[in-house]
Amino acid sequence: MPVRRLHNYVYCPRLFYLQWVENIFVEDANTVAGTHAHRNTDKASPLKESLDLEERSQHRSLAVSSDSLGLTGVVDLVESTADGREIVDYKNGSARRHHETGERIAKDNDAIQLAAYALLLGEANLPVDRASIYYAADRSRVPVELDDKLFARCKEKLAEARRVADETVCPPPLLDDARCLHCSAYSVCLPKESAFWGDPTVGQEHAIDDKVAPRPPGDEGEIVVVQNPRAKVACRGGEIQVRLLKEVLTKHPIHQIQAVYLYGGVQISTQAVQSLLSRHIPIGYFSPAGRFLGMTSGLPQSGVDARLGQARLFENRKIRATIARECIRAKIHNQRVLLMRNGSPPKPVLKELARIRDRCQHQTNLDSIRGLEGAAAALYFEHFATMVKGSEFEEFDFNGRNRRPPRDPINSLLSQGYSILAKEITGMAHAVGLDPFIGFFHQPRYGRPALALDLMEEFRPLIADSVVVSLINRRELEPKDFQFTARGVFLSNNGRRQFWRAWFRRLDTEVKHPQFGYRMSYRRMLDVQARQFWRVCRGDVPTYHGFTTR
Ligand code: SF4
Repeated sequence: MPVRRLHNYVYCPRLFYLQWVENIFVEDANTVAGTHAHRNTDKASPLKESLDLEERSQHRSLAVSSDSLGLTGVVDLVESTADGREIVDYKNGSARRHHETGERIAKDNDAIQLAAYALLLGEANLPVDRASIYYAADRSRVPVELDDKLFARCKEKLAEARRVADETVCPPPLLDDARCLHCSAYSVCLPKESAFWGDPTVGQEHAIDDKVAPRPPGDEGEIVVVQNPRAKVACRGGEIQVRLLKEVLTKHPIHQIQAVYLYGGVQISTQAVQSLLSRHIPIGYFSPAGRFLGMTSGLPQSGVDARLGQARLFENRKIRATIARECIRAKIHNQRVLLMRNGSPPKPVLKELARIRDRCQHQTNLDSIRGLEGAAAALYFEHFATMVKGSEFEEFDFNGRNRRPPRDPINSLLSQGYSILAKEITGMAHAVGLDPFIGFFHQPRYGRPALALDLMEEFRPLIADSVVVSLINRRELEPKDFQFTARGVFLSNNGRRQFWRAWFRRLDTEVKHPQFGYRMSYRRMLDVQARQFWRVCRGDVPTYHGFTTR
């Protein structure tokens, strides 16, 4: 085990498990700053034939390992002086203060890390006399006393870490703990959220204080959409360039990109694909009419445990129905909310939708859930037109849902929205380590991302339908933005541009989470829900909670 994992374990066993067992790493400002603080020690000293360091010598980035301890590590700096040998580790951040004297002291996990290095060097016949941590924020070295008590604690923590690594369930999150405020893994660990998903009563006891709690960060970065069929996407010097013949149309620094979507015959170079994949940036492919065809993405972040768990849950009809009904319950709830907010449906319709929603949560049979979903959808789309207000164009009259192909502009927009939502969630499911094709409500079928279709149910009204309603009600689209053909009604290039604008606006809209109290964007919410489902598949939380709005 690398010593830095032991360091993580002492900081938080869950962080250790995320990184060492689940192989999930998140870069944040602190980890980047940490790398910066190591920039000198990471320049390795030339290796000597013998490890026996001479007096008044310095050795940087010294790799050491021991089979008997089962540890490997890289010591930042080993200094040999007339007074003996000292090891130094470089840390971003500052030291702790002694609660009585106010004196600077090393953090517990930092001290144990140095004890582990001293043990390793001892095994290599390089006994260490002194140890210290250089805290970059304080610009000072803080000594660590290498005594028997510290060595014993180091060995004890190493044994504990090994036991935890053998567990199949991730350790519970810390609660109300300041360590989470500085933890790079916060956005994937989701401590308070995980506590709630595991046991809603515990989660509520530790309700998130919106003012002080860290929250999942927003996904920064742009989505590059290319729809000119003669365009080419290339990579030049850290930039993704969109070109038409010899002219460069747009340039995007690659580190600022979140995804690339290509329509129809747009070409992309192998170098651009490789550069995007090496940064885990997915490439989505759409037909000229906007149908999602597939995507290219790097390997998923995590191991196979969640996918195996997902397959096991799928085999259990009871659990399958439990998950399916929650997805549909949340969807019906959100459909009702959208109608209430934007439309003017008769009161009995809202009452009936509430009744169907409530009935849903007691169903144990997939066919009954499908029946309820169909009944709610029929009611919802019967009154969908009440949300589309004041349009002077008769082309925008809505008379119920039709698709494949859509036969009117609103159905065309709805199909476009659902297709893109399916793509977003397929990508997220894949990225977090789920199998997008094993669904619970939607029957798995060749080429159908059934899980993504399940997870998108609760977001259909909140994202896709809402974008459609807002595009029409804000008069951002007119009939001339559509192509009316014998094969159906499709957006023109300009119409699609407007659509994407509204789509990104919606994904960036922040809403208050009903359980956790803080605000987060819909884009981030999709990720949080996918991660919650991943935890269900890993067996860390008992069941899935759909996102519902008020
Ligand atoms: S966010 Fe908190 S609970 Fe989660 S890994 Fe980090 S320190 Fe541990």
